[in-house]
Amino acid sequence: MTEITCQLVVIGGGPGGYVCAIRAGQLGLDTVLVERGKLGGSCLNVGCIPSKAMIHVAEEFEKLTEAASGKTPFGLTAANPALDFRQAIAWKDGIVQRLNNGVAALLRKAKVKIVQGHARFRDGKTIIVETETGPKTIKAETVVIATGSAPVELPSLPFGGRVISSTGALSLAKVPKSLVVVGGGYIGLELGTAFAKLGSKVSVVEAQDNILPLYDAELTAPITRRLAALGVEMLTGARALGLTAQGDGLRIETADGRERSLSADKILVTVGRAPVTATLGLEQLVLDMDGRFIRIGQHCETSMRGIYAIGDVTGEPMLAHRAMAQGEMVAEIAAGMPRAWDKQCIPAICFTDPEIVSAGLSPEEARRAGTDIKLGQFPFAANGRAMTRHGEPGFVRVVARADNQRVLGIQAVGQGVSELSAAFGLAIEMGAVLQDIAGTIHAHPTLGEAIQEAAFKALGHAIHV
Ligand code: FAD
Repeated sequence: MTEITCQLVVIGGGPGGYVCAIRAGQLGLDTVLVERGKLGGSCLNVGCIPSKAMIHVAEEFEKLTEAASGKTPFGLTAANPALDFRQAIAWKDGIVQRLNNGVAALLRKAKVKIVQGHARFRDGKTIIVETETGPKTIKAETVVIATGSAPVELPSLPFGGRVISSTGALSLAKVPKSLVVVGGGYIGLELGTAFAKLGSKVSVVEAQDNILPLYDAELTAPITRRLAALGVEMLTGARALGLTAQGDGLRIETADGRERSLSADKILVTVGRAPVTATLGLEQLVLDMDGRFIRIGQHCETSMRGIYAIGDVTGEPMLAHRAMAQGEMVAEIAAGMPRAWDKQCIPAICFTDPEIVSAGLSPEEARRAGTDIKLGQFPFAANGRAMTRHGEPGFVRVVARADNQRVLGIQAVGQGVSELSAAFGLAIEMGAVLQDIAGTIHAHPTLGEAIQEAAFKALGHAIHV
């Protein structure tokens, strides 16, 4: 059996793992990355990137269909809009392929050795990788587990046939006539909205009383309105029971306890993601777990010395940028640098229509922590740039401490607000106070002006409302 000895081995080449490996390589560590599938992991291949590509196609198509219906207030018309869905999928796959190649090139540049195959632990310092050419043994001083997550399967709706996961939804051969989305979290709603715009009759079945239950009702209200305008049927407080007897749809129990069925070409189950730890040989180790997730400390260290875990396999928030930040930190720690996780916030975005961005604490979270707060909320209805974009208006909301004006959180809902997330994160990381945001000249006309106005408002003197 081939044996490789190295300083650092990373298991999993998703955003957590590949960033960790690149940074470790840059720092001169002799690094091996083991990946059983494609470089870039869920994010690049079946998550963030392909979903945003499909959302873009859907948005462009919707603009044309809106123009064809003569409903645009600015007089745009179009005749017979059509979509070659296969070409759209090929375009999306092309973007993924280019990024796959880019990640491979960056790893090569950092002198990281890539081993293609399934890794499992023999002991805390030894990994066995099943490769196409037979097993390889890798011995390393430091091991980083970055094996990510996979869609949760409902026992009553196993994947296969009509029942698909987000991965299946991103590689359909044609737009389904009808689509039932089970689970009204961000993944289900991003994809459900895209398919509604592409012409599917979409229903969303959500067990809780609200869609996007992690966000407050003020933030989600514009999305609910938009989904209704797109003709999406929202069934909250409802449970999916299983396929209909004919297998052509879904049986559900509605909020009032009654049973009904929804016909569906496809049933997209997006009820969460589970950590990928099976067949990793964790039984050879003595790792503390949080249920099925690997428990980590402040430096992403597990309960075993020399073994770190990063990204989705360590639990919420399961976001690519969190995995990347952890990966970069762990590589520097492995290289002997004094690093700590001192992040004030991990922004989260729903690429729904309109989009939601949340960074730091919501008003409710701040109050629950016993903090006396000041709020400033500015509507995009009073922002010139938002008006020129045409769409469901939303707002920016700034949450600050009442005693010293320190910004604790910023949230927004509106067209294109995802691009404001960096400004929100920067303000919170830099420990900005309301006066810092209010005193920064924001270019006109931009959506960003709404952040400044929200800060003005919290200070008691908004200009444009
Ligand atoms: P992963 O990306 O899951 O990568 C883990 C890798 O490990 C995989 O490549 C896997 O093949 C490999 N692996 C697993 N076990 C082994 C083994 N034993 N041996 C070798 N290799 C192994 N996040 C965002 O921040 N923004 C978004 O817009 C966003 N959109 C999303 C949309 C969808 C549809 C989905 C499904 C997810 C989305 N996410 C988004 C979440 C994001 O994809 C994950 O948070 C991110 O990919 C986690 O990175 P990771 O490195 O922890 O794991």
